Amino acid sequence: MADNSSAAPAGISPPGLSRRRLIASATTLFILPVIPRLAHAAGTILAVRTWPADEYTRVTLELDTELKAEHFTLEHPDRLVVDINGLTMSQTINNLISKVKPNDPYIASVRVAQNRPDVIRLVFDLKQAIAPQVFTLKPIGEYKYRLVLDLYPKVAQDPLLAIMNGADNDPLAEVLENLAQNAPDSAPIPSVQGQKLPPVATKKPDLDPLPPPAANGPPGINRPILIALDPGHGGEDPGAIGRNGTREKDIVLSIARRLKKLIDSQPNMRAYLTRDNDYFVPLQVRVQKARRVKADLFISIHADAWIKPSARGSSVFALSQHGATSAAARWMAKRENEADLIGGINLGSHNKQVAQVLLDLSTAAQINDAMRVGGRVLSEIGKINSLHKASVERAGFAVLKAPDIPSILVETAFISNPEEERLLRSPAHQDRIASAMLSGINGYFAQGPALARKS
Ligand SMILES: [Zn+2]
Repeated sequence: MADNSSAAPAGISPPGLSRRRLIASATTLFILPVIPRLAHAAGTILAVRTWPADEYTRVTLELDTELKAEHFTLEHPDRLVVDINGLTMSQTINNLISKVKPNDPYIASVRVAQNRPDVIRLVFDLKQAIAPQVFTLKPIGEYKYRLVLDLYPKVAQDPLLAIMNGADNDPLAEVLENLAQNAPDSAPIPSVQGQKLPPVATKKPDLDPLPPPAANGPPGINRPILIALDPGHGGEDPGAIGRNGTREKDIVLSIARRLKKLIDSQPNMRAYLTRDNDYFVPLQVRVQKARRVKADLFISIHADAWIKPSARGSSVFALSQHGATSAAARWMAKRENEADLIGGINLGSHNKQVAQVLLDLSTAAQINDAMRVGGRVLSEIGKINSLHKASVERAGFAVLKAPDIPSILVETAFISNPEEERLLRSPAHQDRIASAMLSGINGYFAQGPALARKS
């Protein structure tokens, strides 16, 4: 994946200093009209990044201070206008123009101009009507303040994403309803090839490689077994980074794509990727996508990091609702769950509530099956790599919380271990990991999963 980020050249120095001196020597009479201007002390843009994807395009402006932005959309032609207060023109913000890729599904071009003395106006010329979300993020990890512009499609939007985006009036009720209906026949089935979640109204079953949703019976007999593969991290969230700069998000996407190929070549099995490119997907959306495609199995793919470079070996995790099986497992779950903070989730929406609902649901049957498939995957991986732990561990991973899909998280290796980082970069080793995981999956389904989805 290309890195869209860039370091900023030295920012334009704010005129605040001279003003401050002016105020210091001014009489009370002069201070009053000056103070409101000082409240908008100019910030500096540190970096601009774009993350184009079919699902949505994200534009991130990284700043040294938290700035206020206002936005509105215009039609004929479709445009998004964003006014950022407290900014003056700089080369870094101008770089945004060249960051827009010709294949961006949403943005045709962008214009940047100083609109008012302290206001930068961004005008995005759009390829389609959008429902934008603009929000700010406080500093976390390597990042300073971020102003995030998420450009979601106005039409053809997945209702589940609408829930996550807070576009619905009562997201909680809708999630509950969604959970209550165990694989409703009316639910649209995403294409497993195009990786797009089509809108309900425009479903074209004859174009879909999956059989119609009415096909009943156990997976693998009347319908293909569907495996949701979840490459961890993506977009703003690189995941763990190896000493040679290897990024977890790139490695796990590559392994997931290899595994998808292997699965799709099986006679009665299909794979669906929760993320098929380098963009950020919130943990909760990953779970909902897997539920949406009625997955029979959910596998989240990661590559660990540990403080000590000597740590090595693969591990497999299942969900624990009541504490972790080890301190390391707890630590790992905490790190993986931070993905939403680093990737940048819009906390203005209702994600906290949604996550809590899923957390409270009983997932005992799911976990039982997860332990079984996890054991098989672990023993197969044990044939090609050393194991960090000889048994499936458990902890409160947010991404494993689907109440009705056996869900495991595979930490393929330690990217922080130089030898394993080298292996993770090797296409041959990535293939070996994918093959081992497929063997584990096949073994589990050959034995007959206890928790077969009903349609
Ligand atoms: Zn990870």
